[in-house]
Amino acid sequence: MAEEIRVVRASAKTRLRRRLRFLRTRARELKMIGKALVSTKHPILVHIIPMRQCNLACTYCNEFDDFSKPVPLEEMKNRLDILADMGTSIITISGGEPLMHPDLDGVIRHIRRRGMIAGLITNGFYLNRERIERLNEAGLEHVQISIDNVAPDEVSKKSLKTLDGRLVMLSQHAVFQVNINSVLGSGVKDPEDALKIAHRAVELGFTSTVGIIHDNNGQLKPLGTHEQEIFEEVMALGKRSFSRFNEFQHNMARGREHKWRCRSGSRYLYICEDGLVHWCSQQRGYPGIPLTQYTPEMRHREYSTKKFCAAQCTVSCVQQVGILDNWRDPQNLRPMPMTPPANPQAELVQIGQVRSDS
Ligand code: SF4
Ligand code: SF4
Repeated sequence: MAEEIRVVRASAKTRLRRRLRFLRTRARELKMIGKALVSTKHPILVHIIPMRQCNLACTYCNEFDDFSKPVPLEEMKNRLDILADMGTSIITISGGEPLMHPDLDGVIRHIRRRGMIAGLITNGFYLNRERIERLNEAGLEHVQISIDNVAPDEVSKKSLKTLDGRLVMLSQHAVFQVNINSVLGSGVKDPEDALKIAHRAVELGFTSTVGIIHDNNGQLKPLGTHEQEIFEEVMALGKRSFSRFNEFQHNMARGREHKWRCRSGSRYLYICEDGLVHWCSQQRGYPGIPLTQYTPEMRHREYSTKKFCAAQCTVSCVQQVGILDNWRDPQNLRPMPMTPPANPQAELVQIGQVRSDS
């Protein structure tokens, strides 16, 4: 069990490298915030998908398949160049499972070479000491691992029990920042799991966040009293992360709709494996335009477009980006029609009962 594994401190050299990378990243994050406040013309955060395939099959997930090939490195570099030329500040690599991509280090290197902050969302199953060192060398700055439960079950194998050894390796060898995300709400068997996961994350020197899941109809549903207590405790534990600014999560915990302006398609972009721009992982198909044809005018239009799904949104990274613009520029445009998929086999995805790793 997780409690039986001791915490081993990183070497002095790793701790120094970690500190230096943290300070450099924090300085660039502050610059990113300043740039975002001065101008609304560039994307702040972009999720890219170099690999849709995943080694797991969590039953709630609509973001993976078990067959697709990795996007070639040269194609990923072309996309990153377009995003860098737009002025993008942060790139988060997501999936599927990005660690299955054979050239992931090259993707990370290119993000850093183009001056953008490099993050990764992974299920962590492919991490080992050698892989962590390669991610260090490539220049990775953030990793997020979502852990769904303490012991694996039929819904998810992303459990503390299966991942704890890898978390210990990260605490010893990673020079990038690690955030552990746990979940509360509909479909979570034991809410105490979120607390155990968050405590373990802090014990290992990581930040922790907690996501809230909607009910079966994607509707807001307040957490029970005990779950709310756990939620507040986990949020307090995660005070070192930017999640402390997430007032919307406190609203969701109480079942209140959150009033905010979703700037997806403009300040946040989701670039799928086919190189199409979407609002987010849960609204693929809007607008569904190739990145190569995505103009500043289109970004500007999306900035002013009111998103019909905002009140029930669970995509926390887009909500965090929204904080920088919520105070200005009301949205008064209606969404453009969805673009039909080029591949008729590919289904458009809209929000439902899902959990997002973001
Ligand atoms: S939630 Fe993550 S690990 Fe699970 S199937 Fe989806 S992409 Fe894979
Ligand atoms: S689901 Fe959330 S992030 Fe996605 S488009 Fe709707 S409001 Fe924006």
